Amino acid sequence: MKDWEQALSGARVVVTGGAGFVGSWVSERLLDAGAQVWIVDNMLTGSPDKIEHLFHRPGFAVSIADVGHSIPDPGGVDLVMHLACPASPVHYQRLPLETLRVASDGTVNALELAARHNARFVLTSTSEVYGEPEMHPQHEEYWGHVNPIGVRSVYDEGKRFAEATTMAYARERGVDVGVARLFNTYGPRMSLDDGRVVPAFIGQALSGSPLTVAGDGSQTRSLCWVEDTVEGLLRLACGDASGPVNIGNDHEITMLELAHMVIELTGSSSSIHHVALPADDPHVRRPDLTRARLLLGWEPTMSLEEGLKRTARWVEETRSARATDAERPR
Ligand code: UDP
Repeated sequence: MKDWEQALSGARVVVTGGAGFVGSWVSERLLDAGAQVWIVDNMLTGSPDKIEHLFHRPGFAVSIADVGHSIPDPGGVDLVMHLACPASPVHYQRLPLETLRVASDGTVNALELAARHNARFVLTSTSEVYGEPEMHPQHEEYWGHVNPIGVRSVYDEGKRFAEATTMAYARERGVDVGVARLFNTYGPRMSLDDGRVVPAFIGQALSGSPLTVAGDGSQTRSLCWVEDTVEGLLRLACGDASGPVNIGNDHEITMLELAHMVIELTGSSSSIHHVALPADDPHVRRPDLTRARLLLGWEPTMSLEEGLKRTARWVEETRSARATDAERPR
């Protein structure tokens, strides 16, 4: 058993956004380590599908509530993992006011819960705080270059506000905080239709339809397998670093290279179709992981090739299970 797993055994943990993609994996690993887990999620972009396999686990509970409004207090909380927030550009641009509300009021409510119980608080912030970066790769000391009024600003500035609020609670109220900046994360349980590049490309490749590469596809991302991300997050949760700490994979790839890789790995006959580059789409993104290695003793281990293969397998299985369900007589 790893040190962080031991530290979590018997801990009482509130996970906001626990029915989301990353939140569902965090909740599962917490239960595996012997923690009690209360998910609070309004199911706006999260979904019961992502956590239904956990319903039978002892020590697991779910409240359907909007953390921007209030968070039910289960009592005796040791750790608050604050993940609630729409995270796909398609989702947060469709839900701009909800995104601002959960990043602001939701973060205050989650911090108040932690303060009340003297609990550790972990914020999942984002590489989006770096905006269109003028420094590459991005180190945590870089302050970022964000368009404050652009279409992505509800998420970027929302998370910057969440970081500022978290640090203010640490200074003013003595809350024990840890801030993680997550870079692009992928893997099973992503929403197949949330518009993010990995589920979009895999879905298109498996259907034999063209892969929609935005712009000329020269923009880069660095994609991290979800179980690697969650391991980094839980190490932060069990340590005493306040961060911020980048959590991601530092293997960088262009979106055109990614499209070709997905076509090859899935054995697809799909072609590539270039579409308009979305507004304010960052040109490059790669984490400097020096701090994560030093403070958390952590680095990602899954290769992109193997991670994409596993994700494609999961997408195929999920689609065929849904098709069988749809055909079943009611
Ligand atoms: N992208 C793409 N085709 C798609 C979806 C996304 O080329 O069908 C590009 C998008 O423009 C961006 C990158 O892939 O450059 C990553 O997009 P995503 O929405 O996954 O996350 P982001 O890093 O932009 O938040």
